[in-house]
Amino acid sequence: MKHSIPCEVCRVSFLYRGEVEPGQVVVCSVCGAELEIKETEPEVKAVRLMQDPETEIRRRVETFANLREYTFNEDKELVLEGLVDKHKMYGDFYCPCRFENIAENVCPCLATRMNEVRKLGHCY
Ligand SMILES: [Zn+2]
Repeated sequence: MKHSIPCEVCRVSFLYRGEVEPGQVVVCSVCGAELEIKETEPEVKAVRLMQDPETEIRRRVETFANLREYTFNEDKELVLEGLVDKHKMYGDFYCPCRFENIAENVCPCLATRMNEVRKLGHCY
């Protein structure tokens, strides 16, 4: 069975193949976020899996990199630290390399989700 699941993080609905039930954890195939299924009727509703911020962003970027077959450069830990700091200050994982703390800059940012890494050879 196929389900369209709206992702709270990247605000895109992704297709999930297989059964879903409340409490199940699924991974957004667009941004790598881990989501917990809350409801399945009448539509599937999922929320960000509760975990500590550092675990959440580390798992998200690692999953995202695996999905896209990207590798990390030597700045990985520095960027993760910046992301955790931004989460502490502004309530979400806004890119530490970008000035504006807006939804499209939540890591992985919109440009990265739209394959900018393929053009630039690295994320912003
Ligand atoms: Zn997502």
